[in-house]
Amino acid sequence: MGRPCRPKRGGGGYSGTGLRRLLGVEFMDIERVGAGLEPPAALVQLLAETERLVVLTGAGISVESGVPTFRGPEGLWRSFRPEELATPQAFQRNPRLVWEWYDWRRAKIAQARPNPGHLALVRLEERVPDFLLLTQNVDGLHRLAGSRRLLEIHGSLWEVRCLSCGAVREDRRVPIPMLPHCGGCGGLLRPHVVWFGEALNPEILRRAEEALIRAQTVLVVGTSAVVQPAASFALWAREAGAAIVEINPDPTPLTRYCRFALAGAAGEVLPRLLSRLEEQPSR
Ligand code: NAD
Ligand code: ZN
Repeated sequence: MGRPCRPKRGGGGYSGTGLRRLLGVEFMDIERVGAGLEPPAALVQLLAETERLVVLTGAGISVESGVPTFRGPEGLWRSFRPEELATPQAFQRNPRLVWEWYDWRRAKIAQARPNPGHLALVRLEERVPDFLLLTQNVDGLHRLAGSRRLLEIHGSLWEVRCLSCGAVREDRRVPIPMLPHCGGCGGLLRPHVVWFGEALNPEILRRAEEALIRAQTVLVVGTSAVVQPAASFALWAREAGAAIVEINPDPTPLTRYCRFALAGAAGEVLPRLLSRLEEQPSR
């Protein structure tokens, strides 16, 4: 254990190194570490030496706070799939239906508290000089845990945007009045989240890209790595020389590009990793 993976050698022809070179990727012998095991010493050392770190989180980090992912039966609301509700077209067709779904999610998430995984990332932020946490989550739990150098790239369930004047405001009302309207101009409010088919805020994307390109390590936690462009973030960083570390109980499309892939729950793996890191002499 603790052996960093090396590029595989040998092969040749189109199924071997030639194709790998064409694809611009190296296939790694990934170190997969099961839940309950100590994090590899080489990973602890990598993190201890990392001065420029990006952390990317997804719905998986909030599972242990009782917030379901979109996958699985708990992700369903009435009989709708999120892809049918989290779109501008759905809101145009039936804003009440979409707001009812958001209201239901807000009511559930209002009860949720940050878990040891969120809290470990706050401890990690304290140690790393150049740190950025990019989250796809809209639940606000990283902020509540105390993360500061944070970009909520898909927005927040707790912010609303006026469709007429564009004003963005915090709104924590649960239940939210149906339908909610702008206090300033009377226009219809929508959740200030990025829906399927919508682009990320360009300023947020620019800041994310800058951090990814200079990162030495990218830590990817609890994301299935299928929603773009977040799914590509770690690969951009890797192309610029960063090592990818993944924490997820299941393999993802990113796993084979990782230097370390820890197969476990964020709320167990992250605190253990932080404890080992905090035992290292400080730089
Ligand atoms: P996803 O649902 O596609 O994937 C979740 C991943 O988390 C899976 O790979 C799963 O194996 C992993 N996982 C499950 N339990 C875990 C645990 N305890 N520790 C670590 N990993 C665990 O989520 P996604 O990749 O974030 O993409 C879905 C989209 O849905 C995102 O855009 C996100 O904004 C949105 N979403 C957000 C929330 C939230 O804010 N909490 C919840 C559901 C969906
Ligand atoms: Zn307005």
